[in-house]
Amino acid sequence: MSTRTHARSIHFIKKRADAILSELNIRSLPVKIEDVAKALGLRVTPFAFDDDISGVLVIENEQGYIGYNQNESRVRRRFTIAHECGHYALHSTESKMFMDKGFNAIFRSRQSGLTEETQVLEREANTFAAYILMPDHLLKKEIDQIDFDLGSEDDIKNLAKVFDVSSQAMYYRILNSGLLRF
Ligand SMILES: [Zn+2]
Repeated sequence: MSTRTHARSIHFIKKRADAILSELNIRSLPVKIEDVAKALGLRVTPFAFDDDISGVLVIENEQGYIGYNQNESRVRRRFTIAHECGHYALHSTESKMFMDKGFNAIFRSRQSGLTEETQVLEREANTFAAYILMPDHLLKKEIDQIDFDLGSEDDIKNLAKVFDVSSQAMYYRILNSGLLRF
């Protein structure tokens, strides 16, 4: 694995996700993440992993495979597939194997037991997942349509339902999006 100490900018990752979405002409919600993975050339397979493994990405002979934990909730499975797509789109020159354990702390800036470099890659894959599942222009449209209140659990929950993501993922996506004016 090559070493990289600096992180890619959110802008770079967002542009990569947007380019993939527009190439695939994805405009409706929720984003069909398995179709995105397939369009990237990835094979996606459910597995009965041990509880703490959410997903894996393996690249072998130029072919990428995503395995996801079939026992997790749908929003978790969707996020896992999106996260592995992120590793593939951003990190395939850096490693051919990613194994992801529990995304309970997905938006924590630091995860214990991971090297600095791994934490950078994990954060980047999470950012990619957030932008591919909750594309900027579609999120902006939805937020504009309702009188959105970040403090309202119902607003977050409803928006999360539209995008088929967890409320937590939606909350952090909006918080970090710059879409809200305070
Ligand atoms: Zn990962």
